[in-house]
Amino acid sequence: MNSEIAFIGLGHMGLPMALNLVHAGLTVSGHDLVATSVEKFVAGGGSTHADLAAAVGAAKIVITMLPASRHVESAYLGANGILAQAKPGTLLIDCSTISPDSARKVAAAARDKGFTMVDAPVSGGTAGAAAGTLTFIVGGSDAGFAAAKPYLEKMGKAIFHAGDNGSGQTVKVCNNMLLGIMMVGTSEAIRLGMANGMNPKVLSEIMSKSSGRNWVLEVYNPCPGVMDTAPASHDYSGGFGVDLMLKDLGLAEENALSTGCSVPLGSLARNLYDIHSKSGAGGLDFSSIFSMLAKAE
Ligand code: NAD
Repeated sequence: MNSEIAFIGLGHMGLPMALNLVHAGLTVSGHDLVATSVEKFVAGGGSTHADLAAAVGAAKIVITMLPASRHVESAYLGANGILAQAKPGTLLIDCSTISPDSARKVAAAARDKGFTMVDAPVSGGTAGAAAGTLTFIVGGSDAGFAAAKPYLEKMGKAIFHAGDNGSGQTVKVCNNMLLGIMMVGTSEAIRLGMANGMNPKVLSEIMSKSSGRNWVLEVYNPCPGVMDTAPASHDYSGGFGVDLMLKDLGLAEENALSTGCSVPLGSLARNLYDIHSKSGAGGLDFSSIFSMLAKAE
């Protein structure tokens, strides 16, 4: 059976994204190393092939949503990988968050074999993936962006063309490094206010209308009880995990080393999330870094 799309990686993000393509009326063959994820996809209306090679060979478009650079490199560049199995003319879209260097390496190998490839990492988390409201940050040629956009629009709301291959990953890394730093800084400010007897809600309201204003204060307050909708008010469950932030800060640090750029606050933030993760908080939302900064009782 020919499928319009082969979707590889049906995890927290990939499963709801692939199901949104199915709900939009597209024929999607889903694949994952974990059989239960494929079963959930088929139960939701998707289809699957006997193996990944067959799915890729039958598709017009391949979308990957894998954990990290090494998984993406092996999925595309491996002996029986996507580049070896795809038909000429297949459009390749990698939505995973990986290093810009790795994205450029895979895209160059794809180009050498005549394929058009874009990197299209996402922002918006699992809630955005389920609701089809993700932001896609695309790196690739104008033609690649134009070809990928109609499909990305079935899974997201804002689709940006950042520049050439790797640019999507560069923007994602810069954004998440800033977010990680902002979360630590905002947590410190709230802790300092509280140590002086301030009500954190009053303090946050004033800072969010003053020059310290930022996204964390506005929609994602790290102090429990300040904002009903924030993970902090739900035992730091859901949201964006400490270990995912740690991974993205690691990508920022790795990229800074390869480009000779200094990111002292990014490195400090990575170390803080690392210590927090090693204390057992890896699965909690990243705003739980606020609890690491608690005053000694
Ligand atoms: P996940 O670990 O839940 O899913 C990844 C899936 O890929 C897993 O189901 C795994 O079995 C599968 N996989 C790994 N190697 C494979 C292979 N060779 N063939 C087939 N399947 C394979 O991860 P996730 O939370 O869905 O995140 C995916 C990507 O999106 C990551 O790069 C992550 O950084 C990024 N991201 C995640 C979030 C989030 O909130 N979870 C938000 C934005 C971006």
